[in-house]
Amino acid sequence: IMAAITAVPPDPAAARKAEFQKWAVHDPARPLPPVVDPGPAGPPVSAPADAVVLFDGRDLAAWEGAKGGPAAWKVENGYMEVAAKTGLIRTRQGFGDCQLHVEWASPAVPVGHSQERGNSGVFLMDIYEVQVLDCYDNKTYADGSAASLYGQYPPLVNVCRKPGEWQTYDIIFHRPRFDAAGAVVSPARFTVLHNGVLVQDNVELTGPTAHKARPPYKAHADKLPLSLQD
Ligand code: MG
Repeated sequence: IMAAITAVPPDPAAARKAEFQKWAVHDPARPLPPVVDPGPAGPPVSAPADAVVLFDGRDLAAWEGAKGGPAAWKVENGYMEVAAKTGLIRTRQGFGDCQLHVEWASPAVPVGHSQERGNSGVFLMDIYEVQVLDCYDNKTYADGSAASLYGQYPPLVNVCRKPGEWQTYDIIFHRPRFDAAGAVVSPARFTVLHNGVLVQDNVELTGPTAHKARPPYKAHADKLPLSLQD
């Protein structure tokens, strides 16, 4: 049986781009993602056999400080914690395309509001940030929410758990491709699940993530360190 195709199916990527173009960076008028309770945290997940384990709860051997040398963050009771004024940390190994599992918690006693509250970030290739922020009962600009692609794309929903509770990000990242002249062949793409809920669905970045700016791509290596914001 043949059926006539009367309409071209909507293109989610095109619709997303059209929506994106309506908003300036950190636009306070941009709608906030709706709050959805993700349910309680489950037990930590096991790493698959082919995973590169960047932190096993014991030491920061896979990491270095922002200026090289040992990473100075605190390690205790199976977790690492930002140590004040020690700066970001980055992996010794470089990565390009990857699937990344992250478990994080913001301070149990929240301090400050908006971007001051538990602000960190997972920077793929040291350039492209998935925002980490305590967005539980804490309003901020939409493109700076937890699990936003900072300054560009808010998450589809806000599924933050309470401060102090463990949360997960599962990030599927495709690095950008550049031609020999440095032009973009394909942009960086993110799919992100926050606490098991889809919050970024194959989203293309316009370039590096930045504060109050949307800079264009600059050609870079195929593999670069992953960094965590202080
Ligand atoms: Mg951040």
